[in-house]
Amino acid sequence: MLYDNLSVNESGHLTIAGFDACELAEMYGTPLYVLDEDHVREKCRTYVNAMRASFPEGSMPLYAGKALCFKGIYPIVQSESMGADVVSAGEIATALAASFPASLLYFHGSNKTDAEIAYGVEQGVGHFVVDNLDELATLSREAVARGITQKVLLRITVGLDPHTLAAINTGKVDSQFGMPIETGQALSFVRTALATEGIEVEGFHSHIGSQIFEASSFCDQVDRLLAFACDVRDELGFIAQTFNLGGGFAVPYVESDPKVDIAANIAAIAQHLDEGCAAANYPKPRILMEPGRSIVADACTTLYSAGRIKTIEGYRSYVMVDGGMTDNPRYALYKSAYTVLNASRADAPADFECTIAGRCCESGDRIAENTCIAKPEHGDVIAVLTTGAYNFAMSMNYNRVMRPALIMLHNGEARVAIRRQTVDDLLALEA
Ligand SMILES: *Cc1c(COP(=O)(O)O)cnc(C)c1O
Repeated sequence: MLYDNLSVNESGHLTIAGFDACELAEMYGTPLYVLDEDHVREKCRTYVNAMRASFPEGSMPLYAGKALCFKGIYPIVQSESMGADVVSAGEIATALAASFPASLLYFHGSNKTDAEIAYGVEQGVGHFVVDNLDELATLSREAVARGITQKVLLRITVGLDPHTLAAINTGKVDSQFGMPIETGQALSFVRTALATEGIEVEGFHSHIGSQIFEASSFCDQVDRLLAFACDVRDELGFIAQTFNLGGGFAVPYVESDPKVDIAANIAAIAQHLDEGCAAANYPKPRILMEPGRSIVADACTTLYSAGRIKTIEGYRSYVMVDGGMTDNPRYALYKSAYTVLNASRADAPADFECTIAGRCCESGDRIAENTCIAKPEHGDVIAVLTTGAYNFAMSMNYNRVMRPALIMLHNGEARVAIRRQTVDDLLALEA
């Protein structure tokens, strides 16, 4: 099995954290997101412990809520001593509704609206990650109007391409995120920010991409940030207290993906930072990281029911499930690979080659193509692994398909954290 919380029981059913997947599907209906809270906590601890061990005091991971944002996730990351990234008023409101401290929020986004900036300041968001000069001016106005000084990190584009998908690679120069070092704009961004009323610059943020497997990309990023910080020191006399390295550690989606040792990678990055700071005679900044995917992705499994199954003679077999791109648009967007299992026959050989299609009127509505599962019958429970990140978060009501429920497993108990959407929910906004 791809993850150690998955197994097969004596009925031949897939188990998730000891729960029979077929019983969960029966009890809560399908499609269903099944999130193993203990697995999430384990990932949080890996980051917190590794960062505390290797980086200067005050260093911590921030959970990137965009990966999976709902009220129930915030008490978990808070109790595991993490901060959180938010990217919209909606995410701020969700965190605050779960009593997450506003002071531990970092507000991201290249196009925060004026209203969102005002809301963030009013709610006491601890840090803004300021993307550009236009935002800086608006934030300054809001802070001055309230008589406060807003702590900020400035988002810097370091010009790195960690060879991930173009759509999820944000560190190169031509990007809508941040100000580039290469054109000189990053330096003048800092100069302006330091002279802006109501703004306290604490340090720099950069995010180089997502689904990154090696520490070397982060080490390159540290080199560039540090070189930039030294230029800033020499030109402007400002020393950054904080470097935020963004998110991006990968998780394995299929057996052939490498497994990332997060703790070992963090230790390698820390050593690189120590050496760089020593060589440049730069005081070691505290380090923030913003894991999203690697906190939640592999803690969640989506359960579907197999509906119609058909073979197009000479071509392929289709197994159609009762969800698809509406609860997981990642295959449609990026052709992302997933591991699919027949949870009802998890002990049978996976020798039936098929394409798992969704239920939308859209030929791109697929979860996996040419994958092998144990031959299903109508009604079998089909499990798709690694669906914790960017699945529920990207879910939609196309074809007026309703969003699944999300249940959480913790200490041998299951509870509904997000109930299944209903027709009434769908119609609630309409006159
Ligand atoms: C998307 C994003 C993250 C989280 O990335 P993961 O790959 O999910 O870890 C963190 N920080 C920023 C700024 C992002 O845009």
